[in-house]
Amino acid sequence: MRRLPVYLLLDCSESMIGEPLKAVQEGVRSLLKTLMRNPYALETVWLSVITFDAKARVTTPLTELASFSPPALSVKPGTAMGSALELLQTTIERDLKKGTAESKGDFKPLVFILTDGQPTDNWQRVSKNLLKSKSKIAYIYTIGCGEEVDFKTMGSISDACIHLKDLSPEAMSKIFVWLSASISSSSAQVNEGPVDLTKSPLGNDLELVDLTKPPAFVSQKWLFFHVICQTTKKYFLARFSLDQKSGMYFPNGAFNLPDDFFSEGSIPAPQVDVNKLISTVQCPFCGNKSFCHCDACDTINCFNHKSKAKTITCAKCGEVGYLITDSDFTIGGSAG
Ligand SMILES: [Zn+2]
Ligand SMILES: [Zn+2]
Repeated sequence: MRRLPVYLLLDCSESMIGEPLKAVQEGVRSLLKTLMRNPYALETVWLSVITFDAKARVTTPLTELASFSPPALSVKPGTAMGSALELLQTTIERDLKKGTAESKGDFKPLVFILTDGQPTDNWQRVSKNLLKSKSKIAYIYTIGCGEEVDFKTMGSISDACIHLKDLSPEAMSKIFVWLSASISSSSAQVNEGPVDLTKSPLGNDLELVDLTKPPAFVSQKWLFFHVICQTTKKYFLARFSLDQKSGMYFPNGAFNLPDDFFSEGSIPAPQVDVNKLISTVQCPFCGNKSFCHCDACDTINCFNHKSKAKTITCAKCGEVGYLITDSDFTIGGSAG
């Protein structure tokens, strides 16, 4: 039986933390369920998952549907799109069975890239390489979520781009409805040549991107700070979102970070003028409502603004510093 290899490239950068990542996790499960009920898909589709954050990795190698189990996803800093595309290319080249005189090889693979933001590595070079061989190796579809996606560049390597404006779990689940329908129809008609997947019903939340005039992306719509808790010495992620009218960042959530969050290292943080931040988020561990920056180790600590103490001991490096009430300094954030 000829296989139809399907690759899911999933963005697991920190901007996906919380509900979006949960929705993707749930989405892969429902995708599998739907495909398992489709006799064509069950016969031909093989699935592989490649995830990327600071690094790209093959999380699930190409597996037939009946043996596929959805991988557990977790977030890390960074969006290494370039590494993900490079890994995709070598993985496909390794996986793909070529046709011989006796048997036909695999069908041309389908690749779906799900991303919500700005790549943090040098991915343009990789995308140029991929572009040279793209028409040979796979059909590539990009699903961009939110307003930070650079559709101009993604469009250059994709057969089509689809835009999901909203990152709510309900909206995210529509992606997987579309994916299921697209993969199902491809598996049913695969002998007749390429299927135009953009013809699969997109639903209300998804929009086909007109690549002649892609939507303008918003630079740094989200800001992320890794904060260490003074009380528990655990890390959390503080999220701020840009208000485009005022150009100011408003607090938008705090999330406990998984223990392995820094296991691949962290990425260089863009500098942010704290005067652009309106207030801070509350520490999810101890309830402290302020932040304080340690100059010695460049780490942000949560801090009790009601405390009368004149000094603060950094929870990471132990350095004692004086509190500066004037907030005219910059702190390292992350664009994830
Ligand atoms: Zn705390
Ligand atoms: Zn420190």
